[in-house]
Amino acid sequence: MKTYDVIVVGGGSAGVIAALSSARSGAKTLLVESKTTFGGTNTNALVGPLVPFLGESKTPIVGGIPQEIIDDLIAIGGSKGHVDDPIDFAYSLTPVDFKAMQIIQANKLYAESNLEIVTGTSVTAVEREGARIQAIQTLNEFGTATRYRASVIIDASGDADVTRLSGEAVNIGRESDHKSQPMTMCFNVGNVDLERVRDDVAKNPDNFAVSDAIRNGERMNYVAISGYFDEVRSSKTFPIQRDRLLFFEGVQEGEVGMNTTRIMNLSSLNPEELQQATIEGHQQVLALFKWLKAEIPAFKDAYIKDVGDIGVRESTHIVGRKQLNEYDVLSGAKQDKSIAVGCYPIDIHSPDSSIMEFLEENIVRNFEIDLDMCLPQNVDNLIVVGRPISATHAAHAASRVSVTCMALGQSAGIIAALAASQALNPHELDYALIKQHIVAMGGIVDRDQ
Ligand SMILES: Cc1cc2nc3c(=O)[nH]c(=O)nc-3n(C[C@H](O)[C@H](O)[C@H](O)COP(=O)(O)OP(=O)(O)OC[C@H]3O[C@@H](n4cnc5c(N)ncnc54)[C@H](O)[C@@H]3O)c2cc1C
Repeated sequence: MKTYDVIVVGGGSAGVIAALSSARSGAKTLLVESKTTFGGTNTNALVGPLVPFLGESKTPIVGGIPQEIIDDLIAIGGSKGHVDDPIDFAYSLTPVDFKAMQIIQANKLYAESNLEIVTGTSVTAVEREGARIQAIQTLNEFGTATRYRASVIIDASGDADVTRLSGEAVNIGRESDHKSQPMTMCFNVGNVDLERVRDDVAKNPDNFAVSDAIRNGERMNYVAISGYFDEVRSSKTFPIQRDRLLFFEGVQEGEVGMNTTRIMNLSSLNPEELQQATIEGHQQVLALFKWLKAEIPAFKDAYIKDVGDIGVRESTHIVGRKQLNEYDVLSGAKQDKSIAVGCYPIDIHSPDSSIMEFLEENIVRNFEIDLDMCLPQNVDNLIVVGRPISATHAAHAASRVSVTCMALGQSAGIIAALAASQALNPHELDYALIKQHIVAMGGIVDRDQ
């Protein structure tokens, strides 16, 4: 059986960064990814712009490898960098070209000498003895089964697959009825008349969620639209169960990413329901595109450029040694063993109605995420990062965003490498040492930094 210091399961938003940081920390690392491409929800489900690189006072809250990827993208025309959010929802937005990001991520992974990669391969079983995972079992697209061993495993599968396969309990969706935020199929549209969109906002700002500056007459520069309320709410033919259009300017001229479809009351954890969600997503994309061309003049000459995989906002939350809750997020709480800083509103797309819920709108603070929120209660050599960390349904609505997932991935890679080198479990490491190594890689762990 091949043996590594660290295995990272899942090469998505969190996992790509975890694999890079683990390998750069000197650990012999394996990355296992189900698909043959990297970037996960961002690049395959076309989800963006990326948030949040900047927090309160518009100062950086995420650094190191995630920022390095943005710098590399800017250099090849694949990102506009960090721009102001005209909706005043986040402190910055970072639009990226998803396919350019995928190729940058892939080449960074291939360049690491300590890193081996297997793609088209899923983790299907876990061999556990007591509080330790002894090995993982994988199956590739050709039906070949393989076992791998490592000192520390990072579960970056988005759905906490390794955690569940190891027999650990997880929570699903919201506490009251276990329903999750709706799924969405995003799609990119080309040849949109963005000047016309800016005119629409300028003529009737009340028809959009916009910043005070734009409401008071400032022209929208970067186009981020949460609105066209009148057109959507008065339409008898609007094909989606929601109250607005949500779309964001892309990197190329006239391109927008449409984040408006909504697939409700289906579980992404059930294969048949996930298939049904994909079918409904494809149907909604076509119906919405036709509606846009007919009803919104700026889309008259638009075309569909790309359609994403079905996007899963929420599925499982691990039962961690500590849980992030909405009070931590709203108060901007500090944590004893912070490994990442987030800063995003509690943005809940309702699991069963057409609305978006924002708890304490306009109060968006830097908040810290504790290592113990990434550690399952009963498995000692497993770190969970990304979407399924230990959080309440409401807190998850702020911690789930991709740049926070990347920051967690970076820290997890460093911690896993440290633990492997010291023959310790992640929870046994000295926090001062963890912090020193994260900061040395450019990471940020202090909400006030
Ligand atoms: C519709 C929608 C809109 C969003 N809007 C935004 C936004 O505007 N801005 C923003 O920043 N964030 C947004 N998000 C949130 C964000 O994109 C995700 O929460 C984040 O990307 C999740 O990252 P992750 O690494 O946890 O999971 P993922 O990126 O999904 O990565 C998981 C990876 O693991 C792989 N995998 C899964 N199971 C296995 C297995 N058993 N074995 C091996 N590999 C496996 C998958 O193929 C995938 O590559 C949105 C999400 C959705 C769905």
